[in-house]
Amino acid sequence: MKTYSKREFLKIMGLGLAFLPFISLYTACSGSNQSEQKGEASDKEPGTAPQAAKSSQEEKDLDITKASPDDVILLKRTDEQFTGLNKGFNGRIKKLPLYIALCKTTLGVQYAVAHAQKEKLPVAVKSGGHSFEGFSSNDGGLVINLSQMKGVSWGDQLQVSLQPGCLLQEVQAALFSKQRLIPTGSCGTVGIAGLTLGGGYGFFSRKYGLTCDNLVDVEFVDGKGQVHSAADNKDLFWALRGGGNGNFGVATKFVFKTEDMPATFHAQVLKFRKLDATRFTEAIQTWFSVSQTLNPEDFCAFVLNGSTLTILATTFGNKSKLEQNVAPLVSIADSATNSSTDLPQAMKRYYGRKGPILFKNASAGLYKSYEDIAAIAPQIFEKVVAAKGMIYQINTLGGAINDKAFESASCYPHRALPYLSELQAYWDNPAQEAGLLKAFEDIQGLIRKQGVTAQYRNYPDINFPDWQQAYYGNNYEKLQKVKQALDPDNLFQYPQSIAAKNA
Ligand SMILES: Cc1cc2nc3c(=O)[nH]c(=O)nc-3n(C[C@H](O)[C@H](O)[C@H](O)COP(=O)(O)OP(=O)(O)OC[C@H]3O[C@@H](n4cnc5c(N)ncnc54)[C@H](O)[C@@H]3O)c2cc1C
Repeated sequence: MKTYSKREFLKIMGLGLAFLPFISLYTACSGSNQSEQKGEASDKEPGTAPQAAKSSQEEKDLDITKASPDDVILLKRTDEQFTGLNKGFNGRIKKLPLYIALCKTTLGVQYAVAHAQKEKLPVAVKSGGHSFEGFSSNDGGLVINLSQMKGVSWGDQLQVSLQPGCLLQEVQAALFSKQRLIPTGSCGTVGIAGLTLGGGYGFFSRKYGLTCDNLVDVEFVDGKGQVHSAADNKDLFWALRGGGNGNFGVATKFVFKTEDMPATFHAQVLKFRKLDATRFTEAIQTWFSVSQTLNPEDFCAFVLNGSTLTILATTFGNKSKLEQNVAPLVSIADSATNSSTDLPQAMKRYYGRKGPILFKNASAGLYKSYEDIAAIAPQIFEKVVAAKGMIYQINTLGGAINDKAFESASCYPHRALPYLSELQAYWDNPAQEAGLLKAFEDIQGLIRKQGVTAQYRNYPDINFPDWQQAYYGNNYEKLQKVKQALDPDNLFQYPQSIAAKNA
């Protein structure tokens, strides 16, 4: 594995200057920590600050023991903060890295990368810590923790720049205060970083595309410690839109275009209780049929929890049209409730639980239509009912996600598949775990046998066979070339990370 001389890193810092025009876009910085500006361009004197950063850097040799605590703090297992920072959202996953590099600036991230190179340690990257399979940590390596990089700043044309430690509820608070929106997921404590780099979908995606489709630029530190502006590197930008999770380096800043925030959010919640397989089949067929009539502003989820089915239909557009479209489902449901709320208030309802919690969640296939699972729908129902704590959910994608321009600009390969299903298992008592995990595998196997193999990278399952094809389709080979160019020593790795082309 390659290590860096002082000279090489000075070169890296010089290359970082290419980033100046991007950084200087941003003016009023709300909520950013002081250190966000350290080592980067100042808004007032865009031509001079990076020089200052370079010369101050010349004094250092990126030896992490000499780094300023304003850039990065290297925590060992015995340090007080280590245990708290080592926790992820999924309490099932236990990992113990050797170091946590608590980064506060892009320069701090470069220090951390240099340190890992020097000690020949594998690196994982953690922002919101919500990886289903704990891919943002490792055993015996170094974890780059970005949780304190929470800067938010606004640029021209209502673009917003977010540091990777921002959680979705913080992103929403910052955007809604300016009546702006980016299409993200809904859980408040999910990180914008991991969500965006794997795609990112939610209530607004059928109108505006995946979260990654709304990126204008990404600041990125690669496996050699070099800083890039993704807008200047077409292949990197392509790879970061759907394949960027911990594979090639660290995203240290995201720039998004924003949309007008809709005023109102309308939700219909339908309940079907004590279902049997026959009624379940009627409900799922009707759901698929109704979902095809939805407008781009609409979203619909089908959630089977035991023998209770909940259908959530939402819109930030035409409420009457949604109600009309959903009527065939209402006519067979046991109950239906409607609510219209101002959008910021409505989003808080979907923030979800705070972790850590014990669970296994995973993508359970992207579907083209009901036909993909029609033959096994009753069996899925029986297996979910038999495994207490299991949930089977299908979400609508489609709409703008399937835009041709978005497709060519990103490595997310499943745009033509308008349904995303997910399996979820939750337990409180560790004794329940083995039985639930077995039932989970049974259902995954059943779906796989139907020929459903496309999966969403942000809902990974450690047991997916051929995960390369499942997450990335025919784009895997090109992603390997990006890996080879940016992280040839495979510094960034986890059990399902992209392998370099020559590996
Ligand atoms: C409760 C819950 C609700 C969810 N809801 C949605 C939803 O509505 N829509 C949706 O699309 N997804 C959803 N997800 C999935 C979510 O998008 C992924 O779990 C996402 O990867 C989490 O990002 P994170 O930053 O919180 O996690 P982390 O665990 O910090 O990171 C996840 C992955 O991204 C990598 N990564 C993180 N930060 C960086 C970075 N700065 N640079 C490079 N790589 C990085 C990590 O190495 C890891 O592989 C949900 C997940 C949970 C647990």
